Amino acid sequence: MSDCLFCRIVAGEIPSTTVSVTDHTVAFLDIEPRAPVHVLVVPREHLPNVAALSAVPDLLAEVVAHAAAIATAQGVADEGWRLIFNTGAHAGQTVFHVHAHVLGGAQLGRLGV
Ligand code: AMP
Ligand code: ZN
Repeated sequence: MSDCLFCRIVAGEIPSTTVSVTDHTVAFLDIEPRAPVHVLVVPREHLPNVAALSAVPDLLAEVVAHAAAIATAQGVADEGWRLIFNTGAHAGQTVFHVHAHVLGGAQLGRLGV
């Protein structure tokens, strides 16, 4: 989708700081980090949210495995980290190309309102 920000990042049309890639996923630094480690993992394929991603189980597994590998590579696997898929308005989703937030490197706030 040519008008999708993360499709354009995957295509290299918009710059980002790549962290690592797999066959079907790309990870890059969040432009506005909310934690010392804040990486976004996206499938190369455009899917709008994690509900759509759940219909492609192998790709969902690749996104989650990539996130776990990043946590290890970034040195936060032992202390703990968080994986978030914001979905829809109440969750504050702003980019409608599914992305997993990998957050860590400090004590994180509790989830909720
Ligand atoms: P969400 O609010 O869950 O949809 O998350 C979207 C995330 O994308 C936010 O954390 C933004 O800071 C991040 N973001 C927006 N534009 C860019 C960009 N050009 N490069 C990297 N991250 C971005
Ligand atoms: Zn997209």
